[in-house]
Amino acid sequence: MSKGLPKRSEDYSQWYNELVKRADLAENSAVRGCMVIKPYGYSIWEKMQQQLDKMFKDTGHSNAYFPLFIPKSYLSKEASHVEGFAKECAVVTHYRLKNDEEGKGVIVDPEAKLEEELIVRPTSETVIWSTYRNWIQSYRDLPLKVNQWANVVRWEMRTRLFLRTAEFLWQEGHTAHATREEAVEETELMMNVYAQFAEEHMGVPVVKGIKTASERFAGAEETYCIEALMQDGKALQAGTSHFLGQNFANAFDVKFATKEGGLEHVWGTSWGVSTRLMGALIMAHSDDNGLVLPPKLAPIQVVIVPIFRSEEELQAVEEKAHDIMDKLKPLGISVHFDHRDTHKPGWKFAEYELKGVPLRIAMGPRDLANNTIEIARRDTLTKEMVNLGEVEIGEYITDKLEEIQSTIYQKALQFRQENTTAVDSWNEFQEVLESKGGFIAAHWDGTPETEEKIKELTKATIRCIPLDQVKEEGKCVLTGNPSSGRVLFAKAY
Ligand code: AMP
Repeated sequence: MSKGLPKRSEDYSQWYNELVKRADLAENSAVRGCMVIKPYGYSIWEKMQQQLDKMFKDTGHSNAYFPLFIPKSYLSKEASHVEGFAKECAVVTHYRLKNDEEGKGVIVDPEAKLEEELIVRPTSETVIWSTYRNWIQSYRDLPLKVNQWANVVRWEMRTRLFLRTAEFLWQEGHTAHATREEAVEETELMMNVYAQFAEEHMGVPVVKGIKTASERFAGAEETYCIEALMQDGKALQAGTSHFLGQNFANAFDVKFATKEGGLEHVWGTSWGVSTRLMGALIMAHSDDNGLVLPPKLAPIQVVIVPIFRSEEELQAVEEKAHDIMDKLKPLGISVHFDHRDTHKPGWKFAEYELKGVPLRIAMGPRDLANNTIEIARRDTLTKEMVNLGEVEIGEYITDKLEEIQSTIYQKALQFRQENTTAVDSWNEFQEVLESKGGFIAAHWDGTPETEEKIKELTKATIRCIPLDQVKEEGKCVLTGNPSSGRVLFAKAY
């Protein structure tokens, strides 16, 4: 195999880029900021989708699909929404090409100009609320709880594979409710669903919180978020859930007849997670040898690599491997037998390490004679010999996968705890940010001016006001003005 990955400690950013490419997750495309998600990367995304989709359905949501194109006039109906998204919109102005006069290729046909320009959706509130206007008449039509899986386009200037791309895949939930309380409850519920997914399935601990006004979604009254910490001490916003108030109902005139016979505007929410979660997954756990995947999201959970010198040896190992696979598959464990004779076992070991397969079983003629297998754990890089006469293999592997899932989470949690620092002075703030980064819990005077000033001076932003914030009298680290609780700052992706 080609030379190893760059080391995280030497160049984290280069390590990430190389890992994404070498582990066959994704690659850049001809259009800057857009990516090709390769089959292995996509199979991880599919696992995420399947689990999230189940969680959405379990909480009473249904899937639907809305168009990719949004009439320009729709976008401008909600003032702060258009202001927030205007800077990164892709706009369709024409619908035809023609051969140019000199025959050198094709040009946009100036006669095929669209009467109304179309925006490639950066998010779908506007098109969805214009549809909800027809779907909602009375309190009997509420709540309306819809999700869509789609791609969106935001013309980002600084892009990174998965973390920030110009086109990305996501899901966006859009719900409508009769009361403020119910909509707020839904917003919080979906933030909790995201947090549960991140922690239990991705093995990534997250802080749940509320965004400050300046980081709020354009058009929302409140944005809830989950924030994760990456291994280089930078934060990543992993998911958002917005309480939209009646903003979009007002903009699109969505009213419902109440039980009492009145007419009121509907309350809304929207929430989304994207392929950015792939970036979070990679950055949170992987090491200098490659990906480390939590078993619950690993496309292959167990790989069996045969050690053999002849066709007969391979056949004998294969037979035994099939016995093992027959025991694992009914338990829902995805197991792959790599019988290829085009690559040496050592090459395969490195390859599956790079791809983050949680457990690797190696077996050769000597193991057959002894009724043993060698099992290697990807997360700890430890190996052990297991006597098949002494364990029930299905149970053994199930336990190991669970153990890996929890070890990965605990390790990330410990890292976050070690890299969350409470500071009480401006000097300390700067010092911690420079020396180790991570989350900094500090007092802030609550003004957007101070928030902006801190960002200007240090590049650190307020990631969130944690939901579990402890009320405590303090002084803003920058201005010394009074504050009633700490917020979390960090440099972020
Ligand atoms: P928003 O609609 O801005 O609240 O974003 C919804 C979700 O998409 C959040 O979880 C963001 O982290 C994620 N997201 C926003 N912009 C991008 C981007 N350019 N690339 C990938 N994910 C993104």
